[in-house]
Amino acid sequence: MSLIRRIDLRDVVDTGAEPVDYRAAVPRADFDIEAAVPAVHAICEDVRTRGIEAIQELGERFDGVRVEDIRVSPEALKTALDELDPAIRAGLEESIRRLRATCANELEADAVTDLGPGARVTHRKVPVGRVGLYVPGGLAPLVSSVLMNVVPAQIAGVTSIALASPPQKEFGGAVHPTILAACALLGVEEVYAVGGAQAIAMFAYGVGPCRKVDLVTGPGNIYVVTAKRLLKGQIGIDSEAGPTEIAILADETADAAYVAADLISQAEHDPLAAAVLVTTSEALADDVDAELDKQVSATKHVERIRTSLSGQQSGIVFVRDVEQGLAVVDAYAAEHLEIHTADASAVAARVRNAGAIFVGPYAPVSLGDYCAGSNHVLPTAGCACHSSGLSVRAFTKSIHVVDYSRDGLEAVADHVVTLAHAEDLPGHGAAVSVRFSADESAP
Ligand code: NAD
Repeated sequence: MSLIRRIDLRDVVDTGAEPVDYRAAVPRADFDIEAAVPAVHAICEDVRTRGIEAIQELGERFDGVRVEDIRVSPEALKTALDELDPAIRAGLEESIRRLRATCANELEADAVTDLGPGARVTHRKVPVGRVGLYVPGGLAPLVSSVLMNVVPAQIAGVTSIALASPPQKEFGGAVHPTILAACALLGVEEVYAVGGAQAIAMFAYGVGPCRKVDLVTGPGNIYVVTAKRLLKGQIGIDSEAGPTEIAILADETADAAYVAADLISQAEHDPLAAAVLVTTSEALADDVDAELDKQVSATKHVERIRTSLSGQQSGIVFVRDVEQGLAVVDAYAAEHLEIHTADASAVAARVRNAGAIFVGPYAPVSLGDYCAGSNHVLPTAGCACHSSGLSVRAFTKSIHVVDYSRDGLEAVADHVVTLAHAEDLPGHGAAVSVRFSADESAP
């Protein structure tokens, strides 16, 4: 029996003017942020009212370890870097080099628009002042998420960076040493051994040694994502980057061994992770099933992967042709979308909704997880139809600066007054007219 269920959409056809909405037909995770809200709300309130004591108790309950001093010492950061395996350091350095290159290219100049003599509007880009970065550490210590958060923040020009990651029981409540080493490598000095929703609440309210931040970014499990949603407004957030998803759009030209390996690579993250293959080819689906049988049992986290692949969030979806496949993957709006079809670049160019797109057989999601130069903090659960992955832009705000002279204002004054009266706000109009009244002398 195959591990992953099958869904056949080949008979679904467009009948009229409205395109078919495939959102209800594609596999989706069972997890429900609404269901997590009461528990996460209680955690956030506890942190807000009782501060450090609450954080310590929640760490004890959820991470199995009580942390007396949640702020990591400078010595611990230095030691972690000194003791870092040189091969891991080389990998991190290469990843940082590539990320820095793409991030530097993402920097946007101020947009200056002259609208007439003495009438200028500048769209000024300003880095966010203080950010809180979350690095997951429940099921796996995601050292790569340190780089994905920190590098764009630094390139954007953020000057105050705090980072939190769960305390690890096996390291006596310390943050995982490889995560600490990556922080030290990037010059991040403010690191907290706090995980889950309590970390997001700490950032939002400012608790103990951690001052309140303006923006929280980073991926996490359902508790982290729910806390970000609940505290949005109090803080800015990037996207809702929750349990990972991979969708693969493939035709008969795809290599089943690659497709299966890539589905497994994301299922490995979390029992709630989603792996979806959208294909025109039954032969490929059969071969992928056979490969999954062979490859899953050879991996380390067999149970987690089986749970993810056999869950209702995963599946093989049959489509008539690549055209229908594109409609399905756009409706799904996957965090990661791989294209394994003939002319993959042309197909990729037509995708509207995805966190990141991986084109052809030599761009697996794992490459993007670590070393592509792209960012791996990406919107999940369909949010890619309105949100973007982490980038320099996420750490930048913009301000319209309005710079008009007397002549510039006079040229448009009548329109302002007319529009103000049309809205029954005569005071708005008067604020312009007063500048041109008979007794007003020009500067
Ligand atoms: P995590 O750090 O996100 O969560 C661990 C924390 O969850 C613990 O510290 C604990 O405080 C809290 N927690 C655990 N059980 C709880 C409970 N019952 N109630 C309240 N809080 C509880 O680490 P994780 O669990 O390994 O999850 C990481 C997630 O990040 C995975 O789902 C992975 O797929 C996802 N991820 C997403 C992206 C993305 O960009 N979308 C990127 C990388 C990773």
